[in-house]
Amino acid sequence: MPENAPIIIKKIVHNINPTLLSKNAIQVIDTLQQAGYKAFVVGGAVRDLLLGIQPKDFDVATNAHPEQVKRLFRRAHIIGRRFQIVHVRFGSEIIETSTFRAMINIENSKQIGTCRSKRSELDRKTHVTDESGRVLRDNVWGRQDEDAARRDFTVNAMYYDPSTQTVHDYHGGWQDIQSRVMRIIGDPATRFREDPVRMLRIVRFAAKLNFSIDETTQAPIRQLAPLIDNVPGARLFDEILKLLFSGHALNCVQKLRQQGLHHTILPLLDVVFEQPLGEKFVMLSLANTDQRIREGKSVSPSFLFAALLWHLVLEKWKIYQRTGQYPIPTLYLAMNDVLNSQTSQLAIQRRFISDMKEIWGLQARLDKRVGRRTPLRLLKHPRFRAGYDFLLLRCESGEIPADEGQWWTDFINGDPSTREKLLSQRKVPTANKRRRHSSRKSNGRSNETVTSENSGNRVL
Ligand code: ATP
Ligand code: MG
Repeated sequence: MPENAPIIIKKIVHNINPTLLSKNAIQVIDTLQQAGYKAFVVGGAVRDLLLGIQPKDFDVATNAHPEQVKRLFRRAHIIGRRFQIVHVRFGSEIIETSTFRAMINIENSKQIGTCRSKRSELDRKTHVTDESGRVLRDNVWGRQDEDAARRDFTVNAMYYDPSTQTVHDYHGGWQDIQSRVMRIIGDPATRFREDPVRMLRIVRFAAKLNFSIDETTQAPIRQLAPLIDNVPGARLFDEILKLLFSGHALNCVQKLRQQGLHHTILPLLDVVFEQPLGEKFVMLSLANTDQRIREGKSVSPSFLFAALLWHLVLEKWKIYQRTGQYPIPTLYLAMNDVLNSQTSQLAIQRRFISDMKEIWGLQARLDKRVGRRTPLRLLKHPRFRAGYDFLLLRCESGEIPADEGQWWTDFINGDPSTREKLLSQRKVPTANKRRRHSSRKSNGRSNETVTSENSGNRVL
C-alpha cells in the first residue's frame, strides 16, 4: 500500500502557543529523534493545543518499538497486553509513548470468542477481533500514515513536531477544528464496531469542545448502541467516569440522550427521566458536579452515582414503607434492590457502593423527624458533608421542602445556643416507639446501625 502524505501546517498558520507544551513531552521527543527515530506529540494534546486549551496530558507517537523506547529512558515501563505502550515517568507526569500501529485488515484478523485460554494461544503479530468486529488485541507495528488511519476522529489524528513546529494532518483534522466538527476516520459503522467505546468518546469530545457531530458519523450510532454491552465492565466504567467528570457532564448526558446512548451509563436511567422530579434531580446533580470541577473542588463518583440512582431508591423505599416497616431498614432494602438491578453490567467498584449506601442512609437520619440527640452525633459522621450536600440538592430539586436543608445549614453554622433552639424544634420519639424498636433489634430483624433514637421517625 503506498504511503499517504500528510498536509504540513506551519507555525504561522497553526499558531500553537509553545508555553502550553509539556517540557517532559519535548524531552521524550528530542531523545527519540536524536536516537534516529520519528517522534511527535499526538492525539488529544494536538487537538487541544490547536484550540488554545491546556492539554491535560501528552501522548507521544514514534516508530521506535516499545523495547527500543524503554532502553532510552531511565524510568520507562512497558505496560498493557492488549495494547502495549511505554510509560515514561517524570515525577508525577507520565508521557505515554506508543509505537505507530498498522492498519487492521479485518479479513486477515483472527476472530475469537471471549475465552481467555484461546486468546493466549494466538499469534502476537495478528489483530484479534471478536464476532462483532471489536478489536481485542492490537500490537502490530506500522507506518505513521497507518497509525493516523487507526485513530478515532480526524481531530485526534494530527501529529506535532516541536523541533520544526509543524503539524502533520492526515485526515482533514485541521479543517474540522476550524468548522468545529467531530468526524470519525473511515467507515463509521466499521469503526464503531471495532471499538464501541468510540460512540461514548465522540459524545464526550463534542460536549467538551462544543463541537457538532458530523451527520454521516452520527447515522449508525443509534443502531449500534447495544454493542456497548460487549465492552468489558471495567473499561466502560472508566469511560463513563471520564464522561461524568469531564466538567461537561450535563452537556454529555443531554447528548447521550439525543443519541440513544444514555442507557450505557445506567440501564434504568430512562425510568428516572420519566419522572419530572427524578430528571430535575439528575440534571441538577450533573450541573453541580460540573460547577465543582470548574471551581477546582473535589468530586466523588459515589456522590454522583448515588444521585443518578436516588429516585429509583426513593420509589422502592416508598413501596417498602407501605408495608408498615421502619424507615431505615426499608431504605436499606430499597438500596439493595436498586443496586442489584443496576450494577450488574457497570462495574461500580465496591468502595463506591459502600459510600453510596452511606449517603443514602444519611438521608433518613437527616430527616427532621429524627430525635434530638442525633444531629450533634451526625456532624461527626465521616460522610456527613456528602449527605448534607445531597440533602440540599433534594431541596433544590423540589423533592423535599427547602426549610429541611436550611435547618441543617443553620445548625452547622450555629453557636451552642442557636443549636439548642434548633434542637428544641425537633420532636422526640415517643417511649412507646423506642420500646418497639429495641424489641425489633433484639429480634435480630434489623441489621443496620440504627439507634433507638432515630428509629421512631416515619419518613414520607
Ligand atoms: P483526552 O485525553 O482529552 O480525554 P484524548 O484524545 O487525548 O482526549 P486519549 O484517550 O488520551 O484521548 O487517547 C489519545 C489518542 O489515542 C486519541 O486522541 C486518539 O488518537 C487515540 N485513541 C484513543 N482511544 C482510541 C480509540 N478507542 N480508538 C482509536 N483511537 C483512539
Ligand atoms: Mg489524552
